[in-house]
Amino acid sequence: MTDAKPMFINGEWVLAEGGATFDVINPADQSTVASVANGAAPEIERAVQAAHAAFREWSLLAPKDRGRILLAIQELMEERRDELARIVTLENGKPYEEAKKEVQFSLGYFGWFAEEARRMSGEWVASPQPGKRYWVLHQPIGPVAAVTPWNFPSTMVTRKIAPALAAGCSVVLKPASATPLTALAIADITQAAGLPPGVFNVLTTNRSRLVGNELLTHPLIRKIGFTGSTDVGKGIMEAAARQIKRLSFELGGNAPFIVFDDADLKSAVEGSVAMKFLRVGGQSCICANRIYVQRGVADRFLPAFVEAVKKLKVAPGFQPGAQIGPLINEETRAKVHGLVQDAVARGARLVTGGHYLTEGAYKNGFFYAPAVLLDVTDDMPIAQEEIFGPAAPLLLFDTEEEVIRRANATKFGLAAYFYTKDMTRLMRVAEQLEYGLVGANDATGYTHEIPFGGFKESGLGREGGHEGIEEYTEVKSVVINLT
Ligand code: NAP
Ligand code: MG
Repeated sequence: MTDAKPMFINGEWVLAEGGATFDVINPADQSTVASVANGAAPEIERAVQAAHAAFREWSLLAPKDRGRILLAIQELMEERRDELARIVTLENGKPYEEAKKEVQFSLGYFGWFAEEARRMSGEWVASPQPGKRYWVLHQPIGPVAAVTPWNFPSTMVTRKIAPALAAGCSVVLKPASATPLTALAIADITQAAGLPPGVFNVLTTNRSRLVGNELLTHPLIRKIGFTGSTDVGKGIMEAAARQIKRLSFELGGNAPFIVFDDADLKSAVEGSVAMKFLRVGGQSCICANRIYVQRGVADRFLPAFVEAVKKLKVAPGFQPGAQIGPLINEETRAKVHGLVQDAVARGARLVTGGHYLTEGAYKNGFFYAPAVLLDVTDDMPIAQEEIFGPAAPLLLFDTEEEVIRRANATKFGLAAYFYTKDMTRLMRVAEQLEYGLVGANDATGYTHEIPFGGFKESGLGREGGHEGIEEYTEVKSVVINLT
């Protein structure tokens, strides 16, 4: 195919050897958005060699000068925000207004880490003996392989590459095969902003097994940054063990959302609906997965929640007022529907939605009617697995102690939310939830300035905050003898 979109290696736009391509599909209508170069072993080798060759010079630049380029990237992304958002909606399906917010948020990582780069200082440690000095420094770890998912095609990329580049690392990014176009547009921007060739490379491919074998275990790659499912993460960790590769993982979640009797009900309803349905239609790792409602407030919370869900507008992303777009593909839609049907078979009550939308504007897309399930119990798969779609299981509880125990009874530990007006309870519950992100009367998620990451099987390491840049450094202690 001659009109295939090339990938970005060593500052050049290149096609795959042999001309292989794969298609990017618009999940709102299954039309082909673009054909993209389908990289394999030769492109992986070129990209790694390019990152390796570019690393030294980039790492030796003054942090302030690296920061200057990151700030230029941020500025260009902001100028081209609407164009990027259009690409996000085309390949991911999320509503255009939501895509604009995503791109606006994602570009902020370049600003935050441009500034953090200048604060990457070491330490001068007091010596226990005269005549010796101890100097501790943080150095960029080396070429990084980054692998990202499709649900936030812009944020997942910038949250990894901004800290890596700021620390002085070079990067080979393998974006999700469903959403490579946003990553390619970001590559174009990095080039326009003056990032030297080879410092950032985007390898597009749908051969993820090959990526595991050839890219992630390449001896010149010093660190893997992976965001995706826990199962794929485990496979990467096993393979990486052979070289003790450094790892940062952002994996799956199963977020509890707890509404106590004394919650501000209006904001608890708004927060739970937003955290369940209004982040990529529920296809986010921090989405509410189990909504726990204290029995004393159930009579008022449940009807208000159901009413709010019935008002949500499901529509193709470019339709004005769209709040929930299509799911990313049929596999995902079928999985969500399977969990809903299974819950009903086990005794849950479906009170709204919970079926495919196939008529009119929905005809060729992967649309699903937002579902609310009552009488759900902890043992149902819908409460145990990551739903990753627009279905809300509601569960009742009696006491604080009980709900904390139930909320923590999962292998995941990414995000949790709870609503209460009692400040002593707020502190108690926040401390006891075994999650990396806890929203207390808040359902807006993380921001650039704080570390984000998971407990338990939800991840390793942190992105954002001061911690985000440290993930891309090694710590060296220099022992100096002055005698
Ligand atoms: P996924 O299937 O694990 O894929 C993530 C990325 O890994 C994609 O680029 C994928 O390529 C690639 N990949 C798949 N199999 C691979 C393998 N064997 N070796 C190397 N790379 C491989 O996840 P997803 O379905 O795209 O995304 C949903 C998952 O990501 C959910 O579990 C969600 O919770 C998690 N997530 C976590 C966070 C967080 O911050 N913690 C954020 C977003 C998403 P292809 O695209 O070609 O399959
Ligand atoms: Mg997958």
